[in-house]
Amino acid sequence: MSTSRRGFLTAAIGAAAQGQLHAQEHEHEHQAVPSDLTLRVKSLESLLVEKGLVDPAALDALVDTFEHKVGPRNGARVVARAWIDAAYKKRLLANASEAIAELGYTSGQGEHMMVVENGPRIHNLVVCTLCSCYPWPVLGLPPVWYKSAPYRSRAVMDPRGVVREFGLELAEDVEVRVWDSTAELRYLVLPERPAGTENLNQDELAALITRDAMIGVRKVNGAGRGGKE
Ligand code: FE
Repeated sequence: MSTSRRGFLTAAIGAAAQGQLHAQEHEHEHQAVPSDLTLRVKSLESLLVEKGLVDPAALDALVDTFEHKVGPRNGARVVARAWIDAAYKKRLLANASEAIAELGYTSGQGEHMMVVENGPRIHNLVVCTLCSCYPWPVLGLPPVWYKSAPYRSRAVMDPRGVVREFGLELAEDVEVRVWDSTAELRYLVLPERPAGTENLNQDELAALITRDAMIGVRKVNGAGRGGKE
């Protein structure tokens, strides 16, 4: 690495660290220094912008799209449709990517999808043990805890313990299946339709379905007891 590049990276890391720390001081007095990954991403972004390889406005637009326009509501519509349309559910379980695309939800980070169905004796939980692979077109951006090292390791070693911390107690006779997402294949949980929702239409059902239920750390609560994310 040349001296000038190292100098730039050092300056970028320092600036990023200072900016982050300054912002965080207001919210979390005892917040630790930003993670190594955060600093690396900031450095890379600064470098790409400086070299003219990336337009910062385009980056902002991309982030805004996934933060505010694409989110778990897309996945909720997929699940609600599957609950009320048996033929759609069959297509969804057979070829999730195509069935999700039918509803118009296509973009990067979700080209190859698999939907796994919860039932009275089966509970599915999704993790990415390696990093943070997540189905962006249907769930938006992953929550911080999904990307955390404790979740990534404990979801595999102690899935019952993990979901218990989300408030979900699984009975002993329920089989827990843990699915490890990768860049090649990402998973979406099809939660069980709660009792008492027989008279709800697709939009009303979709309103009950939470991001966490589609990752598998919670169940969907019935009508009038909307889930918390
Ligand atoms: Fe990953």
